[in-house]
Amino acid sequence: MLRLMLDEIQEGISSLDMECSPQDIDLEFDGVIFIGKVFIKPSIFRQASKIYIKSIISTNIEMECSRCLEPVSVKLNAISEVQYFPLPKLAKDRIDDIGIGYYSEEYIDISDEVRESLILEIPMTVLCSEDCKGLCPHCGKNLNYGKCNCSEPDYLEESPVILRLLELKRKLEV
Ligand SMILES: [Zn+2]
Ligand SMILES: [Zn+2]
Repeated sequence: MLRLMLDEIQEGISSLDMECSPQDIDLEFDGVIFIGKVFIKPSIFRQASKIYIKSIISTNIEMECSRCLEPVSVKLNAISEVQYFPLPKLAKDRIDDIGIGYYSEEYIDISDEVRESLILEIPMTVLCSEDCKGLCPHCGKNLNYGKCNCSEPDYLEESPVILRLLELKRKLEV
């Protein structure tokens, strides 16, 4: 949990440095390993019960290269901006919108905002390098470490020209 205690937030502008572990805020995503801590720098602007918080968030992740499947480190940076209000007594007075949040206790919990902002920044795919050669489709060898011993690719074996040549060769051998 990432809590900002209301009685510790002064009127006007203030800022903080916070950190937590990925588990603290249930940070999980398929195919992504979260490494080390999550760093959060909230800038706060308070006007009585209205509290605006802009957080600069960063953490490190590891993902598989989409061609060769080797682990690749990626730094994630995110920003979350939320205007918090006391939770209204009547449900109809609540506005469920992006950038609007409510607090009902003596603190504001920014865990959800931090988690969601980071998840939005996870790239769909990563490459270990722009010219990653990937894996051989036949033997699975990582071609960045050198060529494999697979002979001709399939497309040559299936080519009509090659098939005709192979047939000719067979006839000549008879
Ligand atoms: Zn790669
Ligand atoms: Zn191969």
